[in-house]
Amino acid sequence: MSDAAAVPEDLNPHHIARAQFDRAIPYVDNVDGWEGIAEWLFEPERVVKLSLPVVMDDGRVRVFHGYRVLHNTARGPGKGGIRFYPTVDEDEVKALATWMTWKCAVASIPFGGAKGGVQCDPTKMSVGEKRRVTRRFIASLGNDIGPHTDIPAPDMYTDAETMAWVYDTYQMMHPHAANLGVVTGKPLDLGGIPGRGTATAQGLAYVLERLLSLSEVPGLASVAGSRVAVQGFGNAGRHAAFILRGLGARVVAVGDVGGGAAREDGLDLEAVEAHLKATGSVVGTPGTLCLDARGPLEVECDILVPAALENQITLENAERVKARLVIEAANGPTTPGADRILCERGIVVAPDILANAGGVVVSYFEWVQNLDNEQWDEHVVQERLRVKMQRATDGVVKTYHHLREHYDEYRERWRQAAPGDPDPVFPDLRIAATATAVGRCWTAVDQRGVWP
Ligand code: NAD
Repeated sequence: MSDAAAVPEDLNPHHIARAQFDRAIPYVDNVDGWEGIAEWLFEPERVVKLSLPVVMDDGRVRVFHGYRVLHNTARGPGKGGIRFYPTVDEDEVKALATWMTWKCAVASIPFGGAKGGVQCDPTKMSVGEKRRVTRRFIASLGNDIGPHTDIPAPDMYTDAETMAWVYDTYQMMHPHAANLGVVTGKPLDLGGIPGRGTATAQGLAYVLERLLSLSEVPGLASVAGSRVAVQGFGNAGRHAAFILRGLGARVVAVGDVGGGAAREDGLDLEAVEAHLKATGSVVGTPGTLCLDARGPLEVECDILVPAALENQITLENAERVKARLVIEAANGPTTPGADRILCERGIVVAPDILANAGGVVVSYFEWVQNLDNEQWDEHVVQERLRVKMQRATDGVVKTYHHLREHYDEYRERWRQAAPGDPDPVFPDLRIAATATAVGRCWTAVDQRGVWP
């Protein structure tokens, strides 16, 4: 454990997003008038808090708390998933919406950022209860979502079925109009797009391959032959495990909320999946070592894919990460303190706002498809996804090298712009990605002018 671990770490996701923003601001070009614009680019435009009464299967009424945050629309309408999870609260949703603004900007898609969530434990709810929570949530949001204003998508513990309910509820409330574009991640027969299910993991694989081909990860030349560990075996993590194995990697550990399964020679992923189906968890898959829920983060590997939730790699365990690359499928899995430790240890972190952008990129394709009343072929989706992810990676890597080469100039400029503030943190890929994103939002504000 590092000395820093003695200091209590602030794990509030919105404070973490702020710390990431503050690290990036010194590197955003044209910081003239930075205080006002920066404040506006960080604060959410709108926060909706809802109280949702729902009749449960036993006939009792339970009240759930729901949130929808529209973070920033400088570059386009809001876009971001809906999460069902016990720890959902206002600050978590604000942070997730902020990361969506940055992600859409990094990926160069014409959306701003948004996010929604309902505080609940979907693992203890029936399908009917989840459907009633979804319908009440969407009905209560009313015109706070819409095909041209704020467009939801799946996130933790929501899926294509949930998105079908979102669409249906919105359509019942807004009849006589074509509303398929109000939500993405829908089933294929309901305006969904082929490849959305695997998009986050596939996009991550494209980013990974690009980073390796650009020699950005010391000691790691290719996915083939590498050892991979994945925390989270849901949409993002499960597909990542299969896709990376398909590229020749050995998946040595996977995990879910109940714990993990490890095997040095490589897991039989079909057996893991069968065990998950039969028992509800990957833990105890025959022939594997049992880990706790954070276990996969600490196994010997080359590529670590956190694909569960925020605050998994912290000051407490960053010293025990034994990977060459951490590539973030989850949003916010690494704290700012852990980022510094990993950087000092020479472990590269491919940040969430780049690495998991494949999901929102294919959501964008789905939205375009819906507005055009079209149905894209999967090969078109894959090819366009590959191009988008490679361009995004190239952009972030270029900025990263530029910022490092010109660090002294940025430091001097910052000393003049913010006398007395600490010097800028030496750039890593997250700082480069965030500066790229905030810079693009800033440019949009500049071009539009601040109303009125
Ligand atoms: P999911 O609901 O499909 O899967 C979540 C997985 O995480 C499950 O295996 C669950 O058991 C595990 N998990 C939950 N709590 C855990 C805990 N405390 N410790 C360890 N494991 C835990 O969700 P998903 O869609 O795969 O999302 C996972 C992460 O990826 C989230 O951070 C989400 O925001 C991010 N993400 C998802 C998408 C997408 O398209 N689905 C896109 C971008 C980012």
